[in-house]
Amino acid sequence: MPEVVDELHSALRERFRGDLLRPEHPHYEDVRVVWNGMFAKRPGLIARCADVADVQNAVRIAAANGILTAIRCGGHSLAGFSTCDGGLVIDLSKLRQVYVDSEARRAKFTGGCLLGSIDKATQQVGLIFPSGVVSHTGASGLVLGGGTGWLTRRFGLSCDNVEGFTLVAADGSVVRCNSRENADLFWALRGGGGNFGVVTEFEVRLHPLRSVTLAQGLTSEGDIRRLLEFWRQFMADAPMDLKWNIDLRLAPNEKRVPADLRGRPVAGSSLVWTGSSEEGEKHLQTALSMCHPDSVSSRVVSFLHLQTMADSGFPHGQRYYMKSGYLNCLDDLTIDRLREAVVSLPSDGTLVELAYLGGAAAHMSAVETAFGDRSAPFIVSLLACWSAPAADDAHVGWVREQFNQLRPAMKPGVYVNFMSGDEQDRVPEAYRERWDRMVAIKTHHDPHNFFRLNQNVPPLETSNP
Ligand SMILES: Cc1cc2nc3c(=O)[nH]c(=O)nc-3n(C[C@H](O)[C@H](O)[C@H](O)COP(=O)(O)OP(=O)(O)OC[C@H]3O[C@@H](n4cnc5c(N)ncnc54)[C@H](O)[C@@H]3O)c2cc1C
Repeated sequence: MPEVVDELHSALRERFRGDLLRPEHPHYEDVRVVWNGMFAKRPGLIARCADVADVQNAVRIAAANGILTAIRCGGHSLAGFSTCDGGLVIDLSKLRQVYVDSEARRAKFTGGCLLGSIDKATQQVGLIFPSGVVSHTGASGLVLGGGTGWLTRRFGLSCDNVEGFTLVAADGSVVRCNSRENADLFWALRGGGGNFGVVTEFEVRLHPLRSVTLAQGLTSEGDIRRLLEFWRQFMADAPMDLKWNIDLRLAPNEKRVPADLRGRPVAGSSLVWTGSSEEGEKHLQTALSMCHPDSVSSRVVSFLHLQTMADSGFPHGQRYYMKSGYLNCLDDLTIDRLREAVVSLPSDGTLVELAYLGGAAAHMSAVETAFGDRSAPFIVSLLACWSAPAADDAHVGWVREQFNQLRPAMKPGVYVNFMSGDEQDRVPEAYRERWDRMVAIKTHHDPHNFFRLNQNVPPLETSNP
């Protein structure tokens, strides 16, 4: 690979407006890092694009020379797909523009935006784009995989709110797609991840919202069963305005945590209510009655507070490993398994996340987008976080073991953005009855699988150049 990367560098240098960083460049070490410290890879060249023409040139020359290429927006791929050893990284971090049309309640943003920049721009006029829960996550990777967050039940997945994409295809051409133009590609990009090209612009729908009611509380280990039994029943009929996520983890040793819970296994509930405060109160109070009375809080917070409150909980550079799946129902045996998982947590950064989908995301027809299962309400994710490489085996082993325990209760399917890099065999499972259509669209738009560092949909008769 080194010689071809040299040639790529020479060919690009002539016309590239952004930065070309080789390992000897003074900023290379800073720019090469991605969020997940498990993937400290060393690309041969990082092409930090200044405009769409830079992206086109990088794609065209890399594809023609068969150079392994990763695409990076926010660098938050849990699976480490936005970097590689020896090859090219097309880095979009200079393409961070957001244009809001407040009257039309529409926005356009470019392919390198982080969620926080979109939130700030849209909030200036009291609008929101429904996205994820950590503002330093890249919007491109999140939206292309689907995009779940606090407002999914109210406004649908992020990809459900996209009206058009502009992308650089594997042959370097610029392609637009929406419900009228290249409709197959438009379908595939809403959930299909980075398989089809480098998206340089998203056109999205916005919704009015400035604040929400946020209620939080902790439930002790002994009451987790009661909480989960209540949660599964309560959420089945809960209004779309309510999102209730539960994290099973070790309670932090902090003053705000009741002394008898500190360092102990707990269930942390976070509830977000998007309707009127008065109406929300009864739902929130019922839910909070399942929590330790000294741990509960309920208050109105700004949308920007909501979107940034988890930022420090997921720091860059730690080591992370995740596995996830869908449950049709949360049966008693699964609740037992979850309780066993929380008492065996290997570190205080490690957790089991339980989310209840449903709402607007489930109202959209299954065939309308490539996104995986909309019908399974429960998403279970096991996320390990640690810092010492010596603890890799213990953490990865814990996630795999717990996943294997939970697997029999899971229905086939997985949300692609919550997969680790060693799960390529689960990608067909993620798309299930949509798989053949995905393969056909991939074969048409990227027949040599140039875009393959992703939850990959291989084209038919792949011949990697
Ligand atoms: C801290 C944290 C919080 C998260 N929270 C949520 C959440 O609330 N909801 C949720 O749904 N997900 C969440 N995720 C998962 C997240 O959606 C994925 O990790 C997503 O891939 C991150 O996007 P990114 O742009 O930062 O990724 P990158 O690492 O930059 O890229 C990831 C993948 O997307 C592709 N890609 C990136 N940009 C483009 C582009 N412009 N065109 C084409 N392909 C592209 C890449 O090729 C790669 O395969 C979270 C992840 C982290 C690390």
